Amino acid sequence: MAYYLVFLEPRNGLVAGVSADVWHRVQEQLFSGDRVAGFVAGSLSSGALDVLQGSGTVHHALSGRPAVPSDMELCRMLSELVRKEGCTDIFMAATAAGRRLAPAIAATLPASLLAGCTSAYPDEKVCRRYIHSGSVLAAYRPQSAIRIVLQGREHRRVTFSSLERPRCVAFQESPGILRDAAPLIRAIIATSSSEDISEAGIIVAGGRGMGDAGRFAMLEELANLLGGSVGASRSAVDEGWRPHSQQIGQTGKSVAPELYIACGISGAVQHLAGLASARTIVAINSDPYAPVFDVADYGIVGDVREVLPRLTDAVRDVLRKK
Ligand SMILES: Cc1cc2nc3c(=O)[nH]c(=O)nc-3n(C[C@H](O)[C@H](O)[C@H](O)COP(=O)(O)OP(=O)(O)OC[C@H]3O[C@@H](n4cnc5c(N)ncnc54)[C@H](O)[C@@H]3O)c2cc1C
Repeated sequence: MAYYLVFLEPRNGLVAGVSADVWHRVQEQLFSGDRVAGFVAGSLSSGALDVLQGSGTVHHALSGRPAVPSDMELCRMLSELVRKEGCTDIFMAATAAGRRLAPAIAATLPASLLAGCTSAYPDEKVCRRYIHSGSVLAAYRPQSAIRIVLQGREHRRVTFSSLERPRCVAFQESPGILRDAAPLIRAIIATSSSEDISEAGIIVAGGRGMGDAGRFAMLEELANLLGGSVGASRSAVDEGWRPHSQQIGQTGKSVAPELYIACGISGAVQHLAGLASARTIVAINSDPYAPVFDVADYGIVGDVREVLPRLTDAVRDVLRKK
């Protein structure tokens, strides 16, 4: 019988959406007798834990100052909790914090660290992971009794694609969503850098669906507004619309933005190979069945020529009302 511990990251006083996703995926794979607990550290708004559905207890470590404990402190608290409770598996979202903490906890306990695995873990006790940009499925057998599973978007895409659809919205609804997202957009802009796409906090990327080089001006406008960078698919680079330094994917750059806006990009596996660490993906595509919607958090079905100017106006409007 398994005892799962889910590391819940706080964000702006709430449980981060990616952590809540991990919690719910763990709930879906419980067998009879399995147990689940959550761990969150730092101050939370009242009712912040209400988003977590299902069974289990959440351990909330309240810290004084600083409000968010250091990585060392988190590593110590989590390791102690795992030992005390006898947890068998720790699940974490593959965010920047998750990627920093997981190896430290694995070394402290010790535990096997499984990153980017796609199997319906842990029923077989064998973990599968796509390698070589998705062309080979490798199997791993963890050596330690305790496992740490870092769940990235690879996991979401392969294992849960039939269960989880992106929140596709009609374009008319998006200004409302943007208004709700305004504090988040401002927080991302504050930390965003437009120097190099590998480092950018926000990327607005275009593919063949942009139609020609001139239309990338729309992407530059939106990227400038958001303090982000422009990226491109290989098709756009092959067309000569953008330089190779902006190509994202297997033969381009790997990126890790907080927000990735894919415009007229189909979502080929070689492009997605560069996006494994992107946190929130928004896709604009005229084809509702484009594979990019399988990995998108938000999907807008529409023509980039129509959607982009309106989206840019809506973002400008939201940012003006600071
Ligand atoms: C070895 C190898 C390495 C590769 N490396 C990379 C890599 O690093 N990066 C990379 O990106 N690709 C790479 N590729 C290429 C990859 O397989 C795809 O061909 C490429 O990503 C497709 O680019 P795209 O999505 O822009 O174009 P397409 O696949 O042509 O898709 C265009 C999309 O735009 C949509 N669209 C069309 N018109 C509009 C409109 N007006 N409004 C909205 N949407 C519209 C269409 O519905 C479609 O989904 C590689 C391929 C190989 C074989």
